Amino acid sequence: TENTDVPIIIIGSGYGGAVSALRLCEAGKKVVMLEMGLNWEKAGIPFSNLLKPGKSSAWLKKKSIAPFMNIFSLTPFTGILDRLDFEHINIWVGRGVGGGSLVNGGMAVTPKESYFREVFPDLDAEKFYSHYFPLVREELKVNVIDEQFLKDCPYYKFTRVGEEEAHKAGFKTMRVPNVYDFKYMEKEFRNEVPRSALNTEVIYGNNYGKNSLDKTYLRKALETGNLEILDLHRVQTIQLNDDKSYTLNVQQIDTSGILIADKVFNCKKLILSAGTMGTLQLLLQSHAENNFPVHEKIGKKWGNNGNFMTGRNWVKPLSGGTGAKQSTIPVGGIDNWDDPEHPFFTEIAPLPMGMDVATALYLLINRVDKKGEVAYNKASQSLTLNWDESNTAKMKENAQYFIRKMNKANGGTRSHLLFNNGFGADICYHPLGGCVLGEATNEYGKLKDHENLYVLDGSLIPGTIGVNPFVTITAIAEYCIENLIKQNEFA
Ligand code: FAD
Repeated sequence: TENTDVPIIIIGSGYGGAVSALRLCEAGKKVVMLEMGLNWEKAGIPFSNLLKPGKSSAWLKKKSIAPFMNIFSLTPFTGILDRLDFEHINIWVGRGVGGGSLVNGGMAVTPKESYFREVFPDLDAEKFYSHYFPLVREELKVNVIDEQFLKDCPYYKFTRVGEEEAHKAGFKTMRVPNVYDFKYMEKEFRNEVPRSALNTEVIYGNNYGKNSLDKTYLRKALETGNLEILDLHRVQTIQLNDDKSYTLNVQQIDTSGILIADKVFNCKKLILSAGTMGTLQLLLQSHAENNFPVHEKIGKKWGNNGNFMTGRNWVKPLSGGTGAKQSTIPVGGIDNWDDPEHPFFTEIAPLPMGMDVATALYLLINRVDKKGEVAYNKASQSLTLNWDESNTAKMKENAQYFIRKMNKANGGTRSHLLFNNGFGADICYHPLGGCVLGEATNEYGKLKDHENLYVLDGSLIPGTIGVNPFVTITAIAEYCIENLIKQNEFA
């Protein structure tokens, strides 16, 4: 077995990992990043679109795993989208150099300040809104669509219809910023450059236009010369050594998932940025198998960020419709957060099926009043999730209220095309929590009961943030790593 010693290891190349890597490398530290997914830029393999799922569409699966309408069989490949199935909820995650930024819709939303203060009462909100949020919006290249282009572009009929209907039903709408380069999209529309968002590319990757992490934080970190990224390296378990350093058992795989080499890495400092589910799996599995110390708060305060999908069909499709051609990048939202009875935010989501299915799709984000808990089952070697219909009851009530109000004003029925009963309570894109900042960790993400271990990813957020989470994950990672470096944790 190959045995390697390095000073600092980061596990995972999503938002938390990419931020940590950049700031450590800028401070002159040598960093090795282990990522189980593929480096797609280096591999030079194009991403597939929604209508023709190929290599990038699923992590080692025989069938595609889009949230609905999966009719495609696949040859297993280390694709960028994975789904973790639990009894009452399915959780989608990104795999590959760039993590979730490869598969996500790019919606870059800063949380409402009042809710941020409620979720993180101990953080200096003023500093976040004056410094960290503006900083990450710049680093992530967040921009907004031009209103005239939105008005004229046939690919955004779904947004225009969605907003009109929302206004008719008495809801307030908002423009949603994104990391997709809207100037590029305008050129796509004029056929001056290859199409991506206008060619049904999104959850299986965007070949152009989207500023995913490989084009922002990770590129900058690599340019320092201090970062080495090892892809197709999956960390299995972690051991704590007597001298308080860590030993990682790592499997290197090929693109069909076959084991190529067992490797051992030793490091003085370890940063877990494997995403909420990945980080919890590493901690809890290592605890079960290696007596790895974990604090009692680990696994607690997990939530789905209030994710709840729903849809509507029109009674008379010919009179309405959202368009056969749709951009994959959402730009509109309905903001009902300040309603004390039914607080929610919903994305007016595209459904680019290549035909007019006369269906409107919505991903609601609700408060999470009842949190879940994550544990580990040694027999099945997998995570278990204490989460059922009782956790999503209020979210369902909000979705019912929303659909009823929309249908009353605009006509239409609950969508049975997309979900069994019209509701997708079990679809989760935003797993958060389980390793909450200031509870399982100190105020900057250093794990309790450890001297050289840090968590920097979505698991720091206690299950809810009220909007799509990556802007917040990035800002919290910036805040933590800045302070950890200041405190000479990596000296
Ligand atoms: P991740 O981005 O999940 O990165 C973790 C990385 O660690 C992954 O690359 C993974 O492969 C790797 N890893 C895990 N375990 C191991 C291991 N044992 N060894 C080695 N590597 C490992 N959020 C928004 O804000 N806006 C959106 O529009 C949006 N749309 C979404 C759409 C979809 C389909 C999905 C799935 C998510 C979406 N999200 C969106 C959510 C967002 O992408 C995630 O919240 C975010 O990526 C989480 O960041 P992270 O740093 O916690 O970890």
